[in-house]
Amino acid sequence: MERTDWRTRDLAVLWHPCTQMQDHHDGAPLVHVERGEGAWLVAEGGRRILDAVSSWWTNLFGHAEPRIASAIARQAITLEQVILAGFGHAPAIELAERLVAAAPPGLSRVFYADNGSSAVEVALKMSFHAHRNRGDPHRDRFVALENGYHGETLGALGVTDIPLYRRTYAPLMMSPRFVPSPDAFLCEPGETAAHRAERAADALAALFAREGEQISALIVEPLVQCAGGMRMHHPGYLRRARQLCDRHGVHLVADEIAVGFGRTGSLFACEQAGISPDLMCLSKGITGGFMPLSAVLATQGIYEAFLDASRERAFLHSHSYSGNPIACAAALRSLAIFEEDDVIARNRVRASAMASHAARFLGHPNVADVRQCGMILAIELAADGPGRRPFPPAERRGQRAYLHALDRGVLLRPLGDVLYWMPPYCIDDAALELLADVTASAIEAAVR
Ligand SMILES: *Cc1c(COP(=O)(O)O)cnc(C)c1O
Repeated sequence: MERTDWRTRDLAVLWHPCTQMQDHHDGAPLVHVERGEGAWLVAEGGRRILDAVSSWWTNLFGHAEPRIASAIARQAITLEQVILAGFGHAPAIELAERLVAAAPPGLSRVFYADNGSSAVEVALKMSFHAHRNRGDPHRDRFVALENGYHGETLGALGVTDIPLYRRTYAPLMMSPRFVPSPDAFLCEPGETAAHRAERAADALAALFAREGEQISALIVEPLVQCAGGMRMHHPGYLRRARQLCDRHGVHLVADEIAVGFGRTGSLFACEQAGISPDLMCLSKGITGGFMPLSAVLATQGIYEAFLDASRERAFLHSHSYSGNPIACAAALRSLAIFEEDDVIARNRVRASAMASHAARFLGHPNVADVRQCGMILAIELAADGPGRRPFPPAERRGQRAYLHALDRGVLLRPLGDVLYWMPPYCIDDAALELLADVTASAIEAAVR
């Protein structure tokens, strides 16, 4: 075997995530990436591919961003890893200070884990345990939104409502209450997004009225249900949810793992509703897309529910790499870039450029919706666009778009038949124009 035959070597040993490996054994493309450069991936043979999905929504300022890369290098030769029980270090402390200062008011404590699903596990366990420590052990039920996604570990998958990921493992899952999503795509004819949000909140109110005393927490993805197809909702829902949680003593968990760090136009999505959750999960973009890290921010009240002489009342959850210094250093450098480069303001300009480029898809007979929230723009394909009649899923139209775009140097990875742009914030006008052109031809290839 030729040592540079990467495809053969890859298929001999790797098991790729979220992938039917048989597709690759049958010849589906497998891109061997050699390096990254801004919004671009450089593959074998120097082939350049525009990363329109920020490598699974992690990358913020471009691949191999030099300021974050050197912060990591400096930290690695200073302190690479240390136990975080009984020990602390500057990157973990400074990052926690910065996160608390930047987060919605009221969140004052930071608990570290190392990936998004683990952060969701932490938030759910913390909520249940805080109620229990407060003398309320009967709150053992979670509420989640239909079509929501919170990760793939058993607990996080348990509050996920995407059948493709959940169905197989259903016998292993806890049984949360799923409530209607405020998803504006589901508006009845003539209904506004704000009405839809009110109607979904009414259903939540009805559930809380029946079972409020047994509910530990409501978990939501604020503003955008990303894995559920970039479905977006009116912030009014979050305000009503906040009021209802307060009235019934239920914790509100904001899963900002995908929407945090500027994706929706504000640093955190909750800001646009003017609310503070009781627990907030962060990951993905937290390190600028360089290192695995997650954080759960909690209120002082939740934190204090665990303070006691007894060990059992403590939160005994841990991960070996909790608060890894290199990951924290990357996250600190990434947060500094938000200020240095005035990222939120610049993203406003980027987002409006994305909107102008996407205007061409409005009115296409196979486009049911073009929607945008800040730096996330989604185009939903349908057999009948105006009638919103979907294609049969077995036709895998989105997959056709993916293959077509990849051939033309763009990484578009649709969610079902929803094509979306969620690029690194550094994407320039030329790259955006290429993205729009390739998306247009990918749509034609998919609907043909
Ligand atoms: C990606 C994601 C997760 C899971 O994060 P991982 O790091 O992939 O485990 C949880 N919630 C939301 C909203 C996500 O988008």
